[in-house]
Amino acid sequence: MPAASLDQLVSLCKRRGFIFPGSDIYGGLANTWDYGPLGVELKNRVKKHWWDTFVRKRPDMVGQDAAILMNPKVWEASGHVSNFNDPLVDCKNCKQRFRGDKLLEEKLGVEAAAVLKLDQVEPMLTAEKIPCPSCKKVAWTPAKKFNLMFKTQQGVIEGEGSDIYLRPETAQGIFVNFRNIVDTMRMRLPFGVAQIGKAFRNEITPGNFTFRTREFEQMEIEYFVEPGTEAEHFEQWKDAVWQWFLGFGIDKDRLRVREHGKDELSHYSNRTIDIEYLFPWGWGELFGLANRGDFDLSQHEKFSGQDMKFTDPDDATKKFLPHVVEPSFGCDRSVLTFLLEAYNEETLPNGETRVVMKFDHRLAPYDLAILPLSKKEHLIAKAETLYKKIIQETDLVCDFDVTGSIGKRYRRQDEIGTPRAITVDFGTLGEDEKQGEKDTVTIRDRDTLKQERLSIGALMEKLRK
Ligand code: ATP
Repeated sequence: MPAASLDQLVSLCKRRGFIFPGSDIYGGLANTWDYGPLGVELKNRVKKHWWDTFVRKRPDMVGQDAAILMNPKVWEASGHVSNFNDPLVDCKNCKQRFRGDKLLEEKLGVEAAAVLKLDQVEPMLTAEKIPCPSCKKVAWTPAKKFNLMFKTQQGVIEGEGSDIYLRPETAQGIFVNFRNIVDTMRMRLPFGVAQIGKAFRNEITPGNFTFRTREFEQMEIEYFVEPGTEAEHFEQWKDAVWQWFLGFGIDKDRLRVREHGKDELSHYSNRTIDIEYLFPWGWGELFGLANRGDFDLSQHEKFSGQDMKFTDPDDATKKFLPHVVEPSFGCDRSVLTFLLEAYNEETLPNGETRVVMKFDHRLAPYDLAILPLSKKEHLIAKAETLYKKIIQETDLVCDFDVTGSIGKRYRRQDEIGTPRAITVDFGTLGEDEKQGEKDTVTIRDRDTLKQERLSIGALMEKLRK
């Protein structure tokens, strides 16, 4: 069972060092979150496995890391300056601001709400008697277009000419490097370019923990294909991504594909599907797959004056703009999903409840914990020697915990999702035969709670596998 409520997870994340409220000591900054010591390990592992799967283990893929700040012309060409808007409505009573389409989603459904024209939003809110989530009055202003890009200034002189945006997606960094990558890497179609990085959107109504924030991380791929072949590549990517999520243990009953209706499509897209996850508050987008056609490359060709065409390496007379299939992952939403799925509350045979994070072993922040049974110095020294041996001889990430009773330490390791805990006791030292033979340790499995006694030699062999 995954977490039944978001509060359960938010509280565990804070208690155990996964995610803290941003700027906590100053009372926070609304909807900002900081990944703590365990959160950053989890997130790094998600990114590593994503990069391994989609870049390093595929001959048709390369990676890059573009700057967040880009020439403002990029955003004119991409359509973000004129099209990247949400319908903003104000509550006349309490002056709070909301996204009009989101307020209508429950009543009309996601698709119908997304296709409303700007001048339909307020009449619909009024007709459906949708109350302000804050003061519960129905008193809406007409909807206004609100551009989601964060604007700032570059350099020391404010004003015209120095305006610049924080990128609202990583994708454009790939399109502007298309020529550089084709020329330097001698790529043949189809091929893809992947990037992981921060994106910024001045969301009107952020919320639901890290689900919707104004600063977030994306893991995006632009996959360049011969025009006419995009449908087959679209299907292949849909399957590959679906399998990637299932491979990390996401229950398929909590995943679904949602096809965007024609009217809902973004300005650049011929076809879009979302993979949605059943979050505690309902279905929400985890991942988007879009067929962008040649929209971006042709726009950049127009706005930059540079030739963005691909020349067939076997036939120089064949020059064309490739079409693009774009798998776009939210890194923070993926981490949130893995956290929610991992969360389990179990009743033990003795009637106690334990919270256990059943992460896939590849994602758990620690692979293993070394727990000396007591604080006796020579016991700690023996455990330290084992700890050093493990970190020197394997690539495993290992926690070393001496604080509190062994029961409390097991509980902590369960709550942070460590798959295996190794206890070093007086048997290990050769001082207590009842606990075990000299140079043996106990290894405890997070999920089955089975404890196995084995020699340090056998343990090392097991860990090296
Ligand atoms: P939504 O409809 O939820 O606003 P979107 O369709 O605008 O999302 P895309 O532009 O497709 O999102 O961005 C790709 C991915 O980036 C999304 O699938 C999501 O996982 C992630 N993402 C988008 N906006 C945010 C945000 N404000 N906070 C966290 N992740 C986000």
